[in-house]
Amino acid sequence: MSNKIIKLKPGKEESLLRHHPWVFSGAIASSPKDIEEGEEVTVTDNKGNVLGVGHYQIGSITVRILEFGKEKLSDDFFERRLRSAFALRQTLGLIRDDNNCFRLVHGEGDFLPGLVVDIYGDTAVVQAHSPGMHFARRKVADALTLIPEARIRNVYYKSETTLPYKAHLDPENEYLIGSYDGNIAIENGLQFNIDWLKGQKTGFFVDQRENRALLEKFSKGRKVLNMFCYTGGFSVYAMRGGAVSVDSVDSSSKAVALTDANIDLNFPDDPRHHTHDTDAFKFLTEMKKDEYDLIILDPPAFAKHRSAIKNGLIGYRKLNGKAFEKIKPGGILFTFSCSQAITKEMFRLAVFSAAAKSGRKVRILHQLSQPADHPVDISHPEGEYLKGLVLYVE
Ligand code: SAH
Repeated sequence: MSNKIIKLKPGKEESLLRHHPWVFSGAIASSPKDIEEGEEVTVTDNKGNVLGVGHYQIGSITVRILEFGKEKLSDDFFERRLRSAFALRQTLGLIRDDNNCFRLVHGEGDFLPGLVVDIYGDTAVVQAHSPGMHFARRKVADALTLIPEARIRNVYYKSETTLPYKAHLDPENEYLIGSYDGNIAIENGLQFNIDWLKGQKTGFFVDQRENRALLEKFSKGRKVLNMFCYTGGFSVYAMRGGAVSVDSVDSSSKAVALTDANIDLNFPDDPRHHTHDTDAFKFLTEMKKDEYDLIILDPPAFAKHRSAIKNGLIGYRKLNGKAFEKIKPGGILFTFSCSQAITKEMFRLAVFSAAAKSGRKVRILHQLSQPADHPVDISHPEGEYLKGLVLYVE
């Protein structure tokens, strides 16, 4: 059976011809009435020439193209895409005895809009961000088992919080293949308990791997403060890097417990580490000046949507302002934003104005971004979201 056809208005095919995968509702000339959320559809230009095939969704992004120039997805579509994603991670050198934790699929960046797959040892955690990927979840799970080199034994589906609420899909978090089978993953030789059942996102922030490794190199002999620590990723690297002390702060008691467990796993009974279950702004306001000479600020996204950009930037200015005020001279600040709506330039400006206001002399040592297993499709620059700066503060 062939797919239903979505026809675009004249001229609206241009972004698709450049392989940008999103079709916005305003670009559509006609679409059948009985089309359903998540359905596979064929998109054509106004003259009926096929542009590609994708998943339909009610909303401003109406179709996410999965394959350009084709009318239908072939039966081996997911297998082909997943194999190619796996080959890239092999090329990146991420699959090693001392590293079995990485992102296998990063949505548009792996030509699979709406899908995220993180790998923790022999478990794949699958997250759907579109109804189409929700309906395709079993096909994705089956395709994952067709890559023998990936040695995936369990596939956990976790989309309770990522699917559009209005679609009323009521997804259940569940194992599609296998079941719980140990949950320790290894990142650059360090061990982490990954709580994919209850943790945020897929259980771990895989995207900070390279930045954590860079932090390790700066940690020797320093007193480290890791704000918004979640699983304590930065803290564990700082400990290995030879920090004098590491303080980890998070306002969630679950996060603090995860951090304690991960420190214990790698550095049992090490007196250098302490956790603080408290609000970050309160902690920064109350702490003494010159107490820390390496501070990490990795807050949750302050601007989840375009409408929140202004307030988000105020938040970044305020947060970074507090760190500039308190950090010891000669200190290093690792500061991040994972808000997709806030560009690299906006974030820099917020941090720079906080620096200027503090009167401190500040130099940029590194400009950071998301790692290579979170690739950005060159046709889809919106895929870039993580940005960070490493600053030397005199
Ligand atoms: N740096 C972490 C990821 C941070 S996620 C890593 O590398 O894995 C953001 C964290 O900020 C969450 O754990 C959340 O509980 C915490 N958080 C959110 N608001 C906070 C606040 N006001 N004060 C302290 N922690 C907060």
